Amino acid sequence: MSGGYRFARLQLVCLRGPLVFRAQCEVCEEMGPRAESGDAAMMWVVFHWEDQLDHTAFRELSSTPFRAEPRS
Ligand SMILES: [Zn+2]
Repeated sequence: MSGGYRFARLQLVCLRGPLVFRAQCEVCEEMGPRAESGDAAMMWVVFHWEDQLDHTAFRELSSTPFRAEPRS
């Protein structure tokens, strides 16, 4: 994770806010709902796998909040 990203017209500043977690199926790319923890996010895998038994590869995604600020 970077502390920020700089572009010509704006910079993205990393915030200290909480991470957001989601589970994603690697086969069909469907994603579960946003959750406050990895454990909560990965519960979606149980339901998705029960509906699609041949979908057996998943990812835990975590995302960091950023704020856009114009550069002068
Ligand atoms: Zn799937």
